[in-house]
Amino acid sequence: MTVGVWILGDQLWQNQAALNRTDDKSSLPIILIESWQHVQQRRYHQQKLVLIWSAMRHFAKELRGGGWQVTYTKSEDFEAPLKAWIQAHNITEVRVMAPNDRLFLQLVQNLQLPCKTTIIPNNQFLWTETEFKDWASSRKRLLMEDFYRTSRQRFQVLMDSSNKPVGGKWNFDKDNRQPPKGKLDTPKPLWFEPDVITQEVIAQVKSLSFPTYGKIELFRWGVTREQAMQVLDNFIEQCLPAFGPYQDAMVTGEETMWHSLTSPYLNIGLLHPLEVIQAAETAYLEKNLNLNGVEGFIRQILGWREYIRGMYFYVDADYFENNWFNHTQPLPEFFWDASKTDMNCLRQVLTQVEGSGYAHHIQRLMILSNFGLIAGISPQELEKWFHSAFVDAYDWVMQTNVLGMGLFADGGVLASKPYAASANYINKMSDYCRGCKFDRTVRSGENACPFNFFYWDFLARHRDKLQSIGRMSFILANLDKMPPAELATIRQKAAEWHLVS
Ligand code: FAD
Ligand code: SF4
Repeated sequence: MTVGVWILGDQLWQNQAALNRTDDKSSLPIILIESWQHVQQRRYHQQKLVLIWSAMRHFAKELRGGGWQVTYTKSEDFEAPLKAWIQAHNITEVRVMAPNDRLFLQLVQNLQLPCKTTIIPNNQFLWTETEFKDWASSRKRLLMEDFYRTSRQRFQVLMDSSNKPVGGKWNFDKDNRQPPKGKLDTPKPLWFEPDVITQEVIAQVKSLSFPTYGKIELFRWGVTREQAMQVLDNFIEQCLPAFGPYQDAMVTGEETMWHSLTSPYLNIGLLHPLEVIQAAETAYLEKNLNLNGVEGFIRQILGWREYIRGMYFYVDADYFENNWFNHTQPLPEFFWDASKTDMNCLRQVLTQVEGSGYAHHIQRLMILSNFGLIAGISPQELEKWFHSAFVDAYDWVMQTNVLGMGLFADGGVLASKPYAASANYINKMSDYCRGCKFDRTVRSGENACPFNFFYWDFLARHRDKLQSIGRMSFILANLDKMPPAELATIRQKAAEWHLVS
């Protein structure tokens, strides 16, 4: 019997479950495949293609250097090179670690290969699908906060000797939502100059004949495990000490603030979530860092990331179709070309995404998806756009974040209320409104900010549905106080905006 291992582009980790079962490296055939068909499914960000293909090529090189027997192929599809490889090595069993995305799992299961295919459970997350399902099915409510507390106890992170949370509280977010005021002394993110391998991939991506998105010129992402570790070290040294207070703040020209930039690496296996969490906890203990920032950061990974992925496999397979508000407006063209909008907040964030494939959490949630929600854009169209536009986007992280958290398209399976906000919030948490041609204080008159008239239109449009959500009652009471004539003008403006854009 000859076993061969197929490594997928988001499984670039030497300890991954399909690889770590053998010590005899030289006799284990390994294959990695770049498929053209696969990347034509969406209009991917050019930097995403460079990141994945360059990281795959570097990983293949690293494996070869470690004595593994690696085949690296570029091909139209996956099946043809797999068949050729199976034949060349007389392989009787292909092992592949379970893909994180449902559709890719189906693709693997439907391949017509001349030997057995074994899918090995994925070990790139802390909770397995079964463990998450066991947790979820035993509960009446599926709150992230409950899951996070269980995770803290299960992995003994930030817990004291009596199994209580250190600092006496589970959550310090109250100290973490400061607006940006005055000149902020932001840390420098760690970027990398493309090496020869990356330059080759850049040239390859530039020559592609199918539609892609974004700009490739400023590709600066790390593409190896070593570089990902440097990014983590840089975050722990430079950013974590002040991560908490300005976690939600947005400032023109400050694309990364104190954020870790670890998602592109975590999501392809160059970093493992537990090592990132442990690095933060160790820094807290050894450097006496503020607990609010460290706890806030650890919650993102031990809480949100694991929860989002667990929920992806827990919800029904047709979750993607959810559209609780029946939103059907087409995605505005400016999502693909930032220069086509005059809304400064959207233009700033979309320009940034074009240039790097990255935006931080509040930019994604409170600018991009908030606009989609209140303007009534089709959740499916916006989800597809997010999946194309971000370097860290994958089906497992996209569906529950965009449809559930961002757009409330699942009617509240994930979020306890819609994240809908007017210009008030954007002006409080950013400096974007200062450079905008719209007036953030106006909701119905000339030059009214679209975030304002869409916000009130959204509330009025869905009043009946929103009434069933307890946390919306205060806001709906404000809607009821609005003079009917003003509400009519607002709703007219919202309708006209869609007609002209
Ligand atoms: P930091 O702020 O430094 O946070 C640390 C880590 O926490 C992140 O690297 C990430 O791994 C994890 N994390 C935090 N929140 C989440 C979350 N909600 N879901 C999953 N992981 C989380 N994350 C992605 O990895 N890929 C995506 O395509 C993606 N799309 C998103 C779309 C929307 C509409 C929203 C609201 C969130 C999305 N997120 C996504 C989650 C989050 O915004 C990003 O993980 C984060 O901004 C990545 O930047 P960072 O590494 O600097 O994060
Ligand atoms: Fe965005 Fe409105 Fe502020 Fe302009 S005024 S930046 S459109 S929120």
